[in-house]
Amino acid sequence: MQLQSLSQDQLQSLEVELAAAYQAFQEKKLSLDLTRGKPSSEQLNLSDALDGILAGNYKAEDGTDCRNYGGLDGLPEIKRLGAAILGIGEDEILAGGNASLTLMYQCVYQAYELGFAGPESAWRHEGKIKMACPVPGYDRHFTICEAFGIEMVPVAMTSDGPDMAELEALVKSDPSIKGVWCVPKYSNPTGIIYSDAVVQAIAELPKVAGKGFLVFWDNAYAVHDLIDQPKALANIMNLAKTAGTEHSIVQFCSTSKITHAGAGVAFLGATNGNLATFKNSLCVSTIGPDKVNQLRHARMLPDMATLESHMQKHAAILKPRFDMVLKYLNDDLAGTGLGNWESPEGGYFISFDTLPGLAKSVVKMAAEAGVKLTPAGATYPYGKDPEDRNIRLAPSVPSLAELETAMQIFVLCVKLASVRQRLSA
Ligand code: PMP
Repeated sequence: MQLQSLSQDQLQSLEVELAAAYQAFQEKKLSLDLTRGKPSSEQLNLSDALDGILAGNYKAEDGTDCRNYGGLDGLPEIKRLGAAILGIGEDEILAGGNASLTLMYQCVYQAYELGFAGPESAWRHEGKIKMACPVPGYDRHFTICEAFGIEMVPVAMTSDGPDMAELEALVKSDPSIKGVWCVPKYSNPTGIIYSDAVVQAIAELPKVAGKGFLVFWDNAYAVHDLIDQPKALANIMNLAKTAGTEHSIVQFCSTSKITHAGAGVAFLGATNGNLATFKNSLCVSTIGPDKVNQLRHARMLPDMATLESHMQKHAAILKPRFDMVLKYLNDDLAGTGLGNWESPEGGYFISFDTLPGLAKSVVKMAAEAGVKLTPAGATYPYGKDPEDRNIRLAPSVPSLAELETAMQIFVLCVKLASVRQRLSA
């Protein structure tokens, strides 16, 4: 169905037909939810062995009694796992509490208020501070910026990562841009993996940026592949070391979508110097992380091979859901010009771009037919998608049957909104 080739009469009868189908769904009074990207209960069940796994043995491999205070940067055995996930040295990692988001917030706090290279390096001394935000992106990164009054400068995403020509030109011309948010693997929400050339260019970026520039490398989906032979992400820290920019890279990941989302372990990867600085301020707010939980994780996931086979069980649950979403998009919308999307091979999201000006109406129409979607605009700084196009679909929680109905409604809403837009043009 190419709307441009339809006459006004054809458009009108199509509208009547689609509106009738839409009304039939409305009458069913459904309640379906494709909003936040969290694991389903079935996925959470995969890690229930955590409960009771210590069986009274609280001793870590270095003899630490995990029930007690201390160990600010985490247990050696869990740091080893975090370092392997991020592809960095075991001395370049800190294992914290349950949320990498907290570590990101604390790193922004460190850079903004305290400075990573001495108090005089704190961003706050330089007046108005900005951060580059590849868009569409992760709303909680944007919320951190807002909390610090950091102005967000959007940069377009491509299928290879941020548009590097645009990003380089921005940071070169504006030294008040002090950082960039990156979700390099199965990006939230577009699901793409940054190409080797993009990772290389990002490793070089601090050389052309103002002083104190930081790359926030949020590798939340580092091991969250849905296919057997996933594309590898280039190693930013190795490239940064060659470029001499290693002190400008802070990396994050967590077990949130590996084990129990609310009760996992988060990691910060950075140079020894940056970690030492970070720990100096961290120790003001805590004596140490929950080492009992870290030990539980280390016992259940002692090495990368165990982690990988655990992730395959997640993939077996998630992949059919991604396939379902993509089937509806491909079967109903491919070739129509009514939207664009990527086909992610991992992560938690599928991102859909409607025709300009329609995302809000599609989200509203879907809600009125019983399908809750992430609010349009949430994937942009300040909630403002300038073209009103992007919708993030999160298929992990609904059952396959629910997802199928939700997608029938979604594609119907996209078609109906597009036809109505064309009719009123
Ligand atoms: N980063 C990204 C890109 C995410 O999508 C999410 C979860 N939606 C997080 C971080 C949150 O991670 P954590 O649970 O470790 O705070």
